[in-house]
Amino acid sequence: MSLSPMMQQYLDIKEQHKDSILFFRLGDFYEMFFDDAKIVSKELELVLTGKSCGLEERAPMCGVPFHSCDTYIARLIEKGYKVAICEQVEDPKECKGLVKREVVQIITPGTLTKQSMLDERENNYLASIFMSSNCIALAYCDVSTGEFFCTDFSKAGGIQTVTNEIVRLNAKELILTKECYDELQMDEIIHLVNPYVNILDDSFFSEDSAKNVILKQLNLTSLMGIGLGDKPEAISAAGSLLMYIFETQKQSLTHINKILTYQVGSFMALDKATIRNLELTETLYDKKVKGSLLGILDKTHTAMGSRKIRQWIREPLNRVSEINRRLDGVEQLYNDVLLRNNLKTALKEIYDLERLVGRISFGSANGKDLIALKYSLASIPEIKGDLCVFNSGILFDLNKRISDFLDIHDLIENSIKEDAVGIKEGNVIKDGFNDELDDLKLSIKDAKEWIANLEGAERERTGIKNLKVGFNKVFGYYIEITKSNYNLTPDNYIRKQTLVNCERFITPELKEMESLVFNAESKINQLEYTIFTEIRKRIQQEIPLIQETAIAIAELDALISFADVSAKLGYIKPIVNDQDEIYIKGGKHPVIEQTISDGMFVSNDAYTNCSDTSMLLITGPNMAGKSTYMRQNALIVLMAQAGCFVPCEYAKIGVVDRIFTRIGASDNLSQGQSTFFVEMSELAYILNCSTDKSLIILDEIGRGTSTYDGLSIAWAVVEYLCSSKKRCRTFFATHYHELTALEGQMAGCKNLNVDVAEENGNVLFLHKIVEGSASRSYGIHVAKLAGVPTRILKDAESKLQELENNGQRLSLDAFDIGINKNISQSNGDSSSIGQNGDMQNCLCDDNVEESQLSFFSLMKNPIVERLKALDLMEIRPSEAVALLEELQELAKKL
Ligand code: ADP
Ligand code: MG
Repeated sequence: MSLSPMMQQYLDIKEQHKDSILFFRLGDFYEMFFDDAKIVSKELELVLTGKSCGLEERAPMCGVPFHSCDTYIARLIEKGYKVAICEQVEDPKECKGLVKREVVQIITPGTLTKQSMLDERENNYLASIFMSSNCIALAYCDVSTGEFFCTDFSKAGGIQTVTNEIVRLNAKELILTKECYDELQMDEIIHLVNPYVNILDDSFFSEDSAKNVILKQLNLTSLMGIGLGDKPEAISAAGSLLMYIFETQKQSLTHINKILTYQVGSFMALDKATIRNLELTETLYDKKVKGSLLGILDKTHTAMGSRKIRQWIREPLNRVSEINRRLDGVEQLYNDVLLRNNLKTALKEIYDLERLVGRISFGSANGKDLIALKYSLASIPEIKGDLCVFNSGILFDLNKRISDFLDIHDLIENSIKEDAVGIKEGNVIKDGFNDELDDLKLSIKDAKEWIANLEGAERERTGIKNLKVGFNKVFGYYIEITKSNYNLTPDNYIRKQTLVNCERFITPELKEMESLVFNAESKINQLEYTIFTEIRKRIQQEIPLIQETAIAIAELDALISFADVSAKLGYIKPIVNDQDEIYIKGGKHPVIEQTISDGMFVSNDAYTNCSDTSMLLITGPNMAGKSTYMRQNALIVLMAQAGCFVPCEYAKIGVVDRIFTRIGASDNLSQGQSTFFVEMSELAYILNCSTDKSLIILDEIGRGTSTYDGLSIAWAVVEYLCSSKKRCRTFFATHYHELTALEGQMAGCKNLNVDVAEENGNVLFLHKIVEGSASRSYGIHVAKLAGVPTRILKDAESKLQELENNGQRLSLDAFDIGINKNISQSNGDSSSIGQNGDMQNCLCDDNVEESQLSFFSLMKNPIVERLKALDLMEIRPSEAVALLEELQELAKKL
């Protein structure tokens, strides 16, 4: 037995696309065979069937309808597969034997272009990395919009830089050499952004072919002009990226027509932990935009603007002049409500121009897309009119970059029908646009009318009241007569089809008219398609200008959003300079301010510099507001550098080159790493990478280990950061009161604490940051608020006294922390602490007054002992669950 020809064809094509799932077009379906079929049926929960293929055993098969393939493909891409689309490239009707088939596109996570597969609020980047012995280059592109960037930097320290860049871009796919793969911190990259990784042959990155492909794509004769002339690594990175795009897209892409080179360092560097900890674009807890900084600041009106503002938040500027240019623009918009409103009205009409242009370049734009383009272009004169009042500054420049496309607008207006959808089924081109088309339409006008009138005419002629003229795809036009009227059937009717209750006929005249109409209609559709593609080609010539316009509109939208939010929420314009001071007066946390009731947020000042006030040590009870305070200061600096106004009364910001954070004891146990290990690796990273221009936020570091270890580490970190070489501005919240002794002893250290009022033994959190160290940690008070039984509190109180008298505060702090931690986990805010029943249940019930259990015996109980002995570095997640079970069993016995 031998393989059927079709199956042979399948296997030949599959052989060339081993790393992709092959979607093999068979009529109205894409079919997958063999292993691909098994994978897809499992991943997408589709039925696995079989197809006879000439061999004894049927080939495993599974398929999806071609018209709904997008969702299936999107799901496969999401699950980390590539998909090769293999089409019939001949009309099956016109060829004898096997239809020719070819792969027409390979869809990969980094090369998505279909609207339905993309998140409109986020760029989708594909990146290429190339390195030599002393230099690393990175190129990246969003194929859906055509943006293409390239950079290079020294290899010393460069590995970390690449990682940061990939994280900043949230790259979906990487291409690199094996050598590069081995040298990079691939584990970290995969852990942080999890891109699809392609390891390609070294030859793919050859400088010569890379150079040629760039010159050809950009229509250049030299690379000097675009800043790549003497940068072989950058050429390899950019060229290989282009080649990969061609190999997957299999067509020329006119919208990729610029390579912008940039210097790493022109943006504030933010690592993944900081982006996450500061909740810049999504919340820590449920990964939603709402509740993040982006959620507050993004009030844009276009998808492009939304992507831009996300980009600005993730890439704040660090050049003072650029920051102030943006801030000045925001100020102009802030001051002119009328202008802002006019611009917003115009922006609302604008579709996703960047991606529309992408589809025009791909040749996949349809009638609906051109209509969307028309409406977008129609809004532009309005915008230019509004902006023309400016004769300098960012708004003036944006206006210069926005072109109006009156001719393109009119072309679409005159040619494309409002309700046009597809392009091959006709009904796209307006009457009066093309004479030939109009003539063709006219030529069948009479015939169509004749058919339309036939029913009435024949009813009259035959006297059959329910005679019907109908149409179906197989038989074309027909006349239908029901059973009871058969006897009235005229002689010139020719029987075509017999159904249960009726018969269908044709007449020679009907057939004649039909063929006239059919022939003309197929010509009409063909002609409409040709006209449409010509229009699309005409628009393609304007792509670079439309792209520039789109980017400028995106920036304008983002600036307006900043201005709008700033005006609505009462933000002020910060003073941004190159000095080392940060002074914030009356600062608020932009997100938390909005979530608690009106006016209840307590504002706080902050001052730091690189000399005598570089290390701010913040102590105070849990739930007092330490973390909120530190985050709000970091966010205000970041917002200012992104060009936005800030939530405070006054702000002077000496720019920072990076913000580092180590916030909260966020657990990575699920990934097999203990809290402490994660904490220490993040800390090492911060200490290694910070400069004297950085801003560092440290929140309770050292918590993940024993008290003495933790204190020693915290102490050493403070010393290191205060040493003259690296005096970076640092906010450090700590429960180690011992550290407050450093004020006055170590240069730069200053104590702050959160004010607390005590009234009749009750504690009231004032959320006000004041100078000096906290006198005590109020752990016992917090425990009381949480409902810990009075007897235990009394015991604790006397133990505290005893320890304090002996100078042994430290160990009791551990108790404070233990209890406080429980509270902060089970309660979102301080107001509900008093009602916390959980705490009561988990310690013991007040009624069991006489029980043997006192707090300190609890400390020595087997559960506590077991926990103490536990090595977090060693334990695996599954073991942790087992241990938890064991502990619960023990607890039940107590
Ligand atoms: P800490 O880090 O000291 O334990 P948090 O910063 O987590 O405390 O703050 C705990 C809660 O207190 C916050 O969720 C918020 O509801 C409230 N809070 C914090 N700071 C303020 C403030 N300045 N004004 C009003 N409420 C605040
Ligand atoms: Mg905290």
